[in-house]
Amino acid sequence: MQYEMRAEYADGSSPRDRYPRLEVWHMTRLDETTGLCGRDLDADALTQSADAWGTPAGQPLCHACGALFIHQVP
Ligand SMILES: [Zn+2]
Repeated sequence: MQYEMRAEYADGSSPRDRYPRLEVWHMTRLDETTGLCGRDLDADALTQSADAWGTPAGQPLCHACGALFIHQVP
């Protein structure tokens, strides 16, 4: 199973804004738009490699996704 990180945006902000305001990064299965925590995310939202998990680029991370991800990856 492969994963990637997908952005959730702050209230009133969207990936189509000129300067989207990031709320938190969620972890999703590759090419899915629902976070491991169950949160539906925008299909246009920014994504990045799951390798960013645990690095400054992956902050802030959804705590629920972080906890679930730890248990899914050997
Ligand atoms: Zn999440």
